[in-house]
Amino acid sequence: MSSTYDAIIIGAGHNGLTCACYLAKAGLKVLVLDQYHTVGGMATTEEVTLPGFRSDMHAVGYQFASLSPAPQELGLASFGFELNRPEINFSHVFPDGGIISMHRDVEDTVNSISRYSKKDGETWRRWAQRFVEQKDQIAAWLNSSPASLAEATDQLAGMPGGMDEYRFENQSLRSWLNEQFEAEETRMFMGSFACHCAVSPDDDGGGHLAWLFSSLIQDLGNRFVKGGMHNLPLALASYLRSKGGQIRTGERVSKIIVKDGKATAVRLTTGEEIGVSKVVSSGTDPRQLIVDFLGEEQVGSELIQKMKRYEWGDGYMAVYLALEKPLSYKSGPDAGVSLYAHPSPPSLEYFSKIYSECRSGMLPATPFTVMCNESAVDPERAPEGKAVMKFIVLNVPYEIKGDATGKISARTWDEAKEAYADHIIDHITDAYAPDLRDLILKRVVHSPLDMERTMISAVRGTVTHGAFLPYESGDQRPLPGLGQYQMPVPNVYLCGSGAHPGGGISMAPGRNAAQVILRDLKLQ
Ligand SMILES: Cc1cc2nc3c(=O)[nH]c(=O)nc-3n(C[C@H](O)[C@H](O)[C@H](O)COP(=O)(O)OP(=O)(O)OC[C@H]3O[C@@H](n4cnc5c(N)ncnc54)[C@H](O)[C@@H]3O)c2cc1C
Repeated sequence: MSSTYDAIIIGAGHNGLTCACYLAKAGLKVLVLDQYHTVGGMATTEEVTLPGFRSDMHAVGYQFASLSPAPQELGLASFGFELNRPEINFSHVFPDGGIISMHRDVEDTVNSISRYSKKDGETWRRWAQRFVEQKDQIAAWLNSSPASLAEATDQLAGMPGGMDEYRFENQSLRSWLNEQFEAEETRMFMGSFACHCAVSPDDDGGGHLAWLFSSLIQDLGNRFVKGGMHNLPLALASYLRSKGGQIRTGERVSKIIVKDGKATAVRLTTGEEIGVSKVVSSGTDPRQLIVDFLGEEQVGSELIQKMKRYEWGDGYMAVYLALEKPLSYKSGPDAGVSLYAHPSPPSLEYFSKIYSECRSGMLPATPFTVMCNESAVDPERAPEGKAVMKFIVLNVPYEIKGDATGKISARTWDEAKEAYADHIIDHITDAYAPDLRDLILKRVVHSPLDMERTMISAVRGTVTHGAFLPYESGDQRPLPGLGQYQMPVPNVYLCGSGAHPGGGISMAPGRNAAQVILRDLKLQ
C-alpha cells in the first residue's frame, strides 16, 4: 500500500474539490483522485475545435453558485477566480425575428416582456421581487443539509400561506405559466429554464424550478467565469495545494476497501491501493459509489436494487463551434450579446413535443438548443475578430430508437451525431441566424455517449448525477435514508451532485458534505 491520507476524495469535479478544500482548511491531509486528464469534471474549458478557441466543455453559466459563500470563505479571488456579468443575461428569440431579453435591470426586462403583454411584464416584476425577498432563505436551504421530508412538510404546514407554497413547489411548468402569463412568448421566455434542468412542461415542480432559475438570474446575473469555467476548479485546486492537499489526475478508482465496517483504502484500476485513516468522500455519481465502490457486500441488496432504479433524466448533446466572426441573429444585436440565446417558436406545445419525442427514444425534430455566445461576453476566449460558441442540445435520447427529423437512419450515436448536428445547424441557420452555416471554421460534436465516455459521471449523457424529481430531491437524494451525505459505511460520504441540492455549478453538495464530515470528526 502506498502512503496514507486522512481523507481521500474521489472525483475532482468542482464539488469534490470544494469538499477537499474545506477538509484541508480544517487541517486534514487530503488526496483527490480523478480519472480525467485535468481537474473540474463538468466544469472544464478546452481548445476542442481550433487553437485559441477556448470552449467551456460543459457548464458556462455561474448561476446557483452566486448564492455560495465558498469563493469568499476560500479566498478564491487570490487564486485567479474572477466573475463577470453580461449586460443581457439571456434572450428568447422567435422565428419571426421577435425577441424578449432578460436584462440586468428588471425594469428593462419588464419593458422587453411588455412588447408582448404589459400585464405579463408587471407579473414578472412581482415574481422577480419575490426572489429578492426570499433570497437569504433560499441560500440557507441550498448551503446546508436538507431537512427530513417530515420536518420540511411540518414547516410548510405550520407557516402562513404554507399550503400555497406547497402547491407552487409542486406545480407543473404548464400549470404555473398558464395561470400567471397570458402571452405564449412570455411563457416560453419564462419556461425555458425548466428545460435546462430536463424538466418537461408536465413534470411536477417545473413551475417552481423555472421561477427560481429565472429570478435568480434576474437578480444576480447569468454570470460567467472570466477566461472560462475551468478557472473555478483550477482556483479550488490551487487553494487545496496551498493547504498541503494533493491531486492525482488520470487515476480511476474501482473500489473502496472496507475493514471492520470502516473504509481503510481506495483501490485504483491499476491495482494500486492508497490508505486512508479518517474519511473517503466521493464526488462521482451515486451509482458508482454505492454499486461499484462499496457494492452489495457493504450496502446490502435492497440499496443496490433501489440505486438501479434511480432515474437519471434526459440526455444532452453539445456542439462546439469556432466561427469566422461573431454570429448575427435575425432578432437583432441583443441576442448576440446575451450569454444564452434560446431559439424557439412561441408555443409551449413545442417543448411538450420535444419531451414526448425524446422520452420515446426519438431524435427530436427540432430540439431545444441553448446557443451560448461565449466569446461575445468574454472576448479573450477566441482570437481577435473570431468567435467561439457552444450549442447545448437539451433533451435527446441516450438510446436512439427512432428519428422525428425524418432524415437520419442511423440508430447509434457514433453514426448519427454528425447528421443530427447538420440538421440542427441547418434549422438554426434557416430560422434564427442566417449566416451561421457559412461562418463555421470548425465544429466538434459530443453526443450523450461521448459525454459519458469522457466524464463517467455524465451517466447516460446526463449532467446532474440524477434527475430533478421531487422523490429524488432534498433528503430523498440520492435515495431515502441516504440524504444526509453519509453512506451506510459510516466514514464514507457522497459530496457530488447526486446529493442535496443536486446538479449544476453550486459548490453546495461539496461544501455541505464537508460540514457534515467535519462535524462527525468533531473538527468544528
Ligand atoms: C453541456 C453542459 C452544460 C451545462 N451548463 C451548465 C450551466 O451553464 N450552469 C450550471 O450550473 N451547470 C451546468 N451544467 C451542469 C454542471 O456542469 C454539472 O452538474 C456539475 O459540473 C457537476 O459537478 P460535480 O462536481 O457534482 O460532478 P462532476 O463535474 O461530474 O465531477 C465528477 C468527477 O468525478 C470523476 N470521476 C468519475 N468517476 C470516477 C472514477 N471512477 N474514478 C475517478 N474519478 C472519477 C469525473 O472525472 C469528474 O471529474 C452543464 C453540464 C453540461 C454537460
